[in-house]
Amino acid sequence: MTNKKKASKPMKAIKVTSENKCSLCTGTKCCQYITLHIDTPRSMADFDTLLWQVSHRNIQFYKDSDGWFMLVVEAPCEHITETGQCGIYEIRPMICRGYSNDECEFDSSAEEGFDLFFDSYRSLDDYCRKRYKKWDKRFKKLARK
Ligand code: SF4
Ligand code: SF4
Repeated sequence: MTNKKKASKPMKAIKVTSENKCSLCTGTKCCQYITLHIDTPRSMADFDTLLWQVSHRNIQFYKDSDGWFMLVVEAPCEHITETGQCGIYEIRPMICRGYSNDECEFDSSAEEGFDLFFDSYRSLDDYCRKRYKKWDKRFKKLARK
């Protein structure tokens, strides 16, 4: 005797609208991180600082059409309720009020809009070595001292 599971009925597709989108967003994606605009890094010393920072847990960097940003990931807002709602909706910060869900992480991952993205020391170090041909020379000089 076989014990086949009954095929479940296909679920009716829910039409996503800007009104219901946030309630369908598992994990309340946009409330899980913070971003900090930073000066555009130009020199090797600037990138040295970024390399130190990206070595710390949950720190990433990206560049998009608005410039360079530090991204602190896995930093959920303390006001997210157990049901994924905003617990301080009526008095939420202006930044949250100004965030539109027209095109947000529900539709596609934020990384898709980045020109550059560094989620580890290794990825940023590789970029620096390609960008600056003399990247290693400084270390050799230091070693000779
Ligand atoms: S704005 Fe977008 S990412 Fe944020 S909770 Fe709503 S659907 Fe999710
Ligand atoms: S205050 Fe509310 S809307 Fe803003 S990040 Fe926290 S949970 Fe999200």
